[in-house]
Amino acid sequence: MLLSACLFAPGLVSAEETAGLTKLSEHVYAAVDFKNASPAGNSFGVNTGIVVGNDAVLVVDTRISAKKAREFIADIKKITDKPIKYVVNTHYHLDHSWGNCEFVKLGAVVIGHENWIKLASRYKEGMSHPEYYGMTAEDLNGTTLSPPTITFKDAMLVDLGDVTVSLSYLGHTHTNDSIVVLVEQDGVLFTGDILFTRYHPSMNEADVQGWLKTLAKLESTPAKIIVPGHGPVSTTADIKDLEVYLTEFDKQAKVLCAGKTQDDAPAIAQEMLKILPDQKRTELIWGVENNLRSKYLPKK
Ligand SMILES: [Zn+2]
Repeated sequence: MLLSACLFAPGLVSAEETAGLTKLSEHVYAAVDFKNASPAGNSFGVNTGIVVGNDAVLVVDTRISAKKAREFIADIKKITDKPIKYVVNTHYHLDHSWGNCEFVKLGAVVIGHENWIKLASRYKEGMSHPEYYGMTAEDLNGTTLSPPTITFKDAMLVDLGDVTVSLSYLGHTHTNDSIVVLVEQDGVLFTGDILFTRYHPSMNEADVQGWLKTLAKLESTPAKIIVPGHGPVSTTADIKDLEVYLTEFDKQAKVLCAGKTQDDAPAIAQEMLKILPDQKRTELIWGVENNLRSKYLPKK
């Protein structure tokens, strides 16, 4: 299905609230926990960051559009005049990668997992239909798909001079191209959407068991500072919290969806919200109902 990853609420207006970059460690800055995350034009509240080395800057994810990427670039320029040589996409989803085009114009190369390009083929049509994602043509003005030109299968290191960034694919999780970005000497880990903190995770394309295995591995990360794909700066306690959530979601959804149809999704979602362990999670565009429809109920 074309839009399996993207069943976002339509008709939302753009917002101008963006987070500036905050210093997290010697080399790492991040724009985290956007306010008013719901509007698609505001990148669904995606977190983005940079690693600044002696020789170059590496960008982690690029937001949802050329416009949002230009705002990000303006914030980067306030921090450093080092060349932006590398963009890393934690995965192909639009809110993480559709800003790539603006960084390519500056001469950056885009790096991602080898499955990125195959998975993103759905966007060939989707990009010309901003309404699919709750956006307007104005939101996507000047935005073009800029896939990675450097891909890897398991792991890759990027040397920025005085700091090295390690990229790792840990199996099929949130998507089958999701990677983590570790700046070990600074103790900082970017998880992309392998970790959602205080959001209901998007499970539409997930391998839940693979995701749980990867989260268990990430519990022993050397990083003390974890930047999730969405939500505030996190710790391993938030990784454990998502493990509990996904385990419980999978267990309960299998029971409640047995013998049911897509028409039952809203009622089952209400039941799930009563049962799920973390009631503080924000119900935004990654709704429980979408996860039930795409993974647990038979397609119409
Ligand atoms: Zn995602």
